[in-house]
Amino acid sequence: MSSAPPPTSDKGPGRLGAAFHPHALSLASRAVHADDYINSQRAVAPPLQVSTTFRYADDPDALRPWDNTDPNAPYDSHMYSRDSAPNTTRLEAILTDLIGQPTLTYASGMASFHAMIVFLNPRRVAIGHGYHGCHGVLDIMKKLNGLEKLELESDDDLAKLQPGDVIHVETPLNPTGEARDLEHYARIAQAKGCYLTVDATFAPPPLLDPFQWGADIVMHSGSKYFGGHSDILCGVLAINRKRIEDPSSQDQAKNWMAALRYERLVIGGVMGSLEGWLGVRSLRTLELRVERQSSNAGRLVAWLAAEKAKPDSLVAQVVERIHHASLQKEASDPDSWLLRQMPRGFGPVFSIILRDATFARRLPSKLELFHHATSLGGVESLIEWRAMTDREIDPRLLRVSIGVEGWEDLRADFERAFAALIAEQAAKKA
Ligand SMILES: *Cc1c(COP(=O)(O)O)cnc(C)c1O
Repeated sequence: MSSAPPPTSDKGPGRLGAAFHPHALSLASRAVHADDYINSQRAVAPPLQVSTTFRYADDPDALRPWDNTDPNAPYDSHMYSRDSAPNTTRLEAILTDLIGQPTLTYASGMASFHAMIVFLNPRRVAIGHGYHGCHGVLDIMKKLNGLEKLELESDDDLAKLQPGDVIHVETPLNPTGEARDLEHYARIAQAKGCYLTVDATFAPPPLLDPFQWGADIVMHSGSKYFGGHSDILCGVLAINRKRIEDPSSQDQAKNWMAALRYERLVIGGVMGSLEGWLGVRSLRTLELRVERQSSNAGRLVAWLAAEKAKPDSLVAQVVERIHHASLQKEASDPDSWLLRQMPRGFGPVFSIILRDATFARRLPSKLELFHHATSLGGVESLIEWRAMTDREIDPRLLRVSIGVEGWEDLRADFERAFAALIAEQAAKKA
């Protein structure tokens, strides 16, 4: 079967081959051009290809099993869309370039996490209190094979790790937006012979490169920032190149990419073509969106924190605590791991704990620009009373996902909503 990694941009004959660009292109340019080499059409905007199956070569002498090369489209040929398809291949080509390591896409973030755990097949996974869905996958694995979950933040639990086990770090965390130190966990993984997997959904490029700090596999819910418009489900696994000892090998130990791709073909958790097409469109503006969203969030968090420090301000009357990586103590230390790992911003999601659960339930209805909805990462700002989808969460917690709007408008919306909440409470008491 053709389990070779998706072609990387240095192989293609495209208009913008290496000869035209002896210097390295910026992330923003690569997001627009990384897939030019697969573009055999004259259409500037990529076509949407919905076919699930693709014609074999006309020449019988050219037929090679699992290697469907159509001479008219040498860089865009496929067999069956459970293996690969044009739109998702283009999406993977851009992601591979932006993330900097070979990348596969999946039907959803959860499908990619499941694929990663099935592939690594650990006896134990050390995991913290991040996204609750990942715990759901581990509970299913426990039912199937007795997999044991360990607490990431407990030294006693980390002491139980054995070679071949997994340390899974989500950073920044869902829902608080607080970051974790990848160098710290990479040292433990190295010492114990464990794999370090990182859920970097909350810090897509250009905010964090977990491979630089020792990750073996990086996963993303591409439904969030890679999609960025609240209209696709997508999961992403990127593989550290050092786990591809021999690119031509089908042996799992020597080529993680081929092995993962083979398992994806068998299990079938691939993205649809429409989602792949929407994903390509979305990635063109990844850096613009993420930088804007992250700086908007940083400004709003700084404003909330400053207001909260003023006695009797509206914010102080409503908000008990604010969580975000920008408020972690390390954020003010230029030599800290946090500034080393996240020098370009701390991500667009933060959480606020209100003074009581009634405030948290009622605040979203007072906001005009923020939609009250789950999920995050889109161009539109969202707020969620997290108790709606997470049974174990503090009922006073609101998760905020900042979009690309003008941040002053978002600030004014918060001010209006806090005032309305206080007025409502006063009216009830009267
Ligand atoms: C949303 C999310 C997931 C799950 O992704 P889906 O695409 O919804 O399946 C996993 N991890 C984190 C951190 C998330 O925010």
